[in-house]
Amino acid sequence: MPDPQSQQDPQAEIHRLQQIIDAYEKLTMYSRDELLEADRTIQAHERVQHLSREEIHQLHQTIDELKAAEATLSERIKQALAEDSGNEQLVLAELEELRRTSGENFYTDLFRVLVHYDFTSEEAQEHWQRILVHCESLGQKLGRAVSFRVAMLDYFVGLNRILKSPKMIEIALFDEVVRSSLQDELTGLFNRRYFDRSLTREVNRARRHEKAVALLIFDIDDFKQYNDRFGHAAGDQVLRQVGKLLRESLRGEDIPCRFGGEEFVAILPETTSGQARPLIERLLERVAGAKLEQGAITISGGVAHFPEHGSEPGEIFLQADRALYAAKARGKNRICLAGENQV
Ligand code: GH3
Ligand code: MG
Ligand code: MG
Repeated sequence: MPDPQSQQDPQAEIHRLQQIIDAYEKLTMYSRDELLEADRTIQAHERVQHLSREEIHQLHQTIDELKAAEATLSERIKQALAEDSGNEQLVLAELEELRRTSGENFYTDLFRVLVHYDFTSEEAQEHWQRILVHCESLGQKLGRAVSFRVAMLDYFVGLNRILKSPKMIEIALFDEVVRSSLQDELTGLFNRRYFDRSLTREVNRARRHEKAVALLIFDIDDFKQYNDRFGHAAGDQVLRQVGKLLRESLRGEDIPCRFGGEEFVAILPETTSGQARPLIERLLERVAGAKLEQGAITISGGVAHFPEHGSEPGEIFLQADRALYAAKARGKNRICLAGENQV
């Protein structure tokens, strides 16, 4: 049975759903691509003037859940969190004050507000203590203060895996928290966690739409030597600069990440290795010609693409990595394409 609302006025319903999607986009950076895809789905439906009942139902359900969560939130905790979101100490002090003056459900309420999740009072209290400890240890590892919201997200999503999706994070905090947890500190590119998720998602999407998706892996040449000669700080400066050049070389829909150390990766949707080649060649030239405070550097890269070089993310990665190895073996400062006379 078709949805009665969409039958009455499909245009109005499409408009309404698009507004919902706009709102969703504001909620989350993480699922932006999924939302774009949902938007495309709706546009497709627009063409046939019909929305599937299941889709409408799912959207309704999600919106209802968000509304219900909003309605039951503890307003006082929200106020404390909204007090000055830039000032962590102030927020923590406000929360501490609330804890002292409120009942034993404080921690349960707090997590309901923060992550839309119901813990028992004891569980909630334990998680809170662990998050504070985690925050401290993250800060020590990174050598700078870490926001407790970032520590919280890392704790729940990364360490604890209680929350299946960061979508459940409280709306007002979501943007900031997710962005920081998916970003590499030094370069501002996406981090490895985001890369892993994105590669799986993009390969799945390419499979559905029968498109290609290219993966570039590159590594700075003789970087150990560079660090030894000019020091770690100069090395870090190079990493920032390379990150910037990578970002500038790509299109908006591409996904540049720092994989770790001096290794970078980029996912290029709807692109084959061959199509990616000129873009990557230019990147190599720009890196080699970059004006650095200390000596010049070069990079070597490997490229592979779905579906030609593998049907799964792991295979594509392996092929791109092999191609990178070949580029190194052939004398560095070059790229190799997967399957292209590799050594
Ligand atoms: P190759 O051309 O074969 O890639 O040689 P390489 O010296 O670049 O390779 P190797 O993997 O042996 O060394 C990588 C070096 O990168 C080791 C380390 O000193 C440096 N490095 C890794 N992460 C960082 C970082 O965050 N900052 C700085 N400054 N250096 C880093
Ligand atoms: Mg390396
Ligand atoms: Mg290297």
